[in-house]
Amino acid sequence: MSAEREYHGLGVAPGVAIGVAYVRETGGLEVPERKLRKMEVPDEELRLEKAVELARRQIRRLQNRTGNLPGTASEELGFLLDAYQQMLGDSRLVRGAQARIVDERVNAEAAVQHEIASIAETFQAMDDAYIAARFDDIREVGNRIIRNLTRKPLRAFSTAPKGSLVITDQLTPADMAQIDPALIAGAASSLGGAEGHTAIMARALGLPTVLGAPDLMTQIHPGDAVIIDGTVGRVILTPSEKTLRAYQQRRDKLRRESRRLSRLRNLPARSRDGSNFVLHANVDLPMEMPIVAQAGAEGIGLLRSEFLYMNRETLPTEDEQYAIFRDMVEAMQGLPVTIRSLDVGADKPADVITSAFGTTESTTLGLRGIRLALIESDILETQFRAMLRAASHGPVRILLPMVSNTSEVMKARELLQKAAKRLKRRKIAVPDSLPPLGIMIEVPGAALAADALARDSDFFAIGSNDLTMYTLATDRANEHVAHLFNPLHPAVLRLIQFATSAALRARIPISICGEMAGEPRYAALLVGLGLRELSMSPASIPRVKQRIREMDALAAATRANLIMDQTDSGRIATLLDDFNALA
Ligand code: PEP
Ligand code: MG
Repeated sequence: MSAEREYHGLGVAPGVAIGVAYVRETGGLEVPERKLRKMEVPDEELRLEKAVELARRQIRRLQNRTGNLPGTASEELGFLLDAYQQMLGDSRLVRGAQARIVDERVNAEAAVQHEIASIAETFQAMDDAYIAARFDDIREVGNRIIRNLTRKPLRAFSTAPKGSLVITDQLTPADMAQIDPALIAGAASSLGGAEGHTAIMARALGLPTVLGAPDLMTQIHPGDAVIIDGTVGRVILTPSEKTLRAYQQRRDKLRRESRRLSRLRNLPARSRDGSNFVLHANVDLPMEMPIVAQAGAEGIGLLRSEFLYMNRETLPTEDEQYAIFRDMVEAMQGLPVTIRSLDVGADKPADVITSAFGTTESTTLGLRGIRLALIESDILETQFRAMLRAASHGPVRILLPMVSNTSEVMKARELLQKAAKRLKRRKIAVPDSLPPLGIMIEVPGAALAADALARDSDFFAIGSNDLTMYTLATDRANEHVAHLFNPLHPAVLRLIQFATSAALRARIPISICGEMAGEPRYAALLVGLGLRELSMSPASIPRVKQRIREMDALAAATRANLIMDQTDSGRIATLLDDFNALA
């Protein structure tokens, strides 16, 4: 029996999960393997040949599109795609996989997978960073062939036994979008920050998760007993009997508490002194909709449409998006649904977008959100048409991400009108007055120019995640700077205060939908700054509601005034925590 070992990281999604480790190495695909009968070999060779040919055609399509990219991006991506084409020709990867079908009598997917592993061994022996980067390219091409063979993207971790805990180097938002909570009970990875999209999705799924635990992968074996404590950020391998019992008790206590909180569902979010607040849900995936209803959300304050673009090779069509939006709007039964247009980039990559429109530049300060959408305006128009069609099934609001200039809002509004006209020409029902068009306040410049932006926007939604990241120049998804990511920094609070006052002056609605809104600790401060609508992961609604119901909103405003006079975030935290301890 191995000794108990403990690893520390960032607790990004609270709760306790106890189970067995399902270990995934970085970049690997889960591939079904089976032995072939001799007579099956020729057919399998043909399957591989076709999958390789399809990959060539897919890359060719991408090559045709690189010409539209700005500047060096086109050239760099061009080189990369040329290299991919070569790897799909008479290369070691393809020849090796062909030989394995014949010699090892394994199916084509497994043959490619084995060949990738064998190339990895050769490359690792060379111990050279340049060569290591070339291996990543080979794996990329190999995985594309495997995906073509399996035809549909394999659900990540679908081969894991029920109740497994995923342990891996890195978890992407695309991985999270594929996790089946009925199979996977928790997750931990060596990399990742607390406010990146992976963390947000883990919280949304209610999956106890620890990210950024550096040495995690050094001693773990598949099937090891593991405890993940997503509240404090601890992973315990092969726990002792005593530890296991203590954690089982904690897990049961958390379950009892969550049952108790669920009783708040039908009670209003009203403070002790009678102010009413609106608590909305952030939704990242359609599978969250039942939790939205259970949590008692009064609407969807942020529907991140990025999920529509993840884990796929082609862009989603208008009809496909419409069907999904419509189902969500109908499920909300007359409550408002705020649909945000595509915001890929930074911590939310989507292969279909990065490979089609450029993979080489960093999107944190580049073509992200509305910037990409206005350049690739077909994407935005298609989304607008889908949203407008959904709007005839219930109240819809349209939200634009990463806005920094009024011209972006005006251009988007023109596109929205164009989309409505097109639908009318197609004799498709569109509401007489178009849905409100609002913007995220998540770029510091937008917060400072909120007065001007309020003239052209129908509503604001504060994105405190990106607002904190850009104000403090602190990557939200990077574990090394997680300690600097602090929404209580006076600079962040001043921007929130400024944008809120601008919206109140301009009499347009304003909400906050960053992760800050779902943290009961911050509720008094946000309320005190004048915010009345908070949108958060559905799982957070009961706790925030409880905090609001025990709070005096007037006293919170007085405390917020005192806090806003401070220049030190430590002092701000103390003033806030003292206030929270009082009520
Ligand atoms: C934010 O930035 O706070 C936000 C809500 O948007 P996202 O987390 O999707 O970037
Ligand atoms: Mg954002």
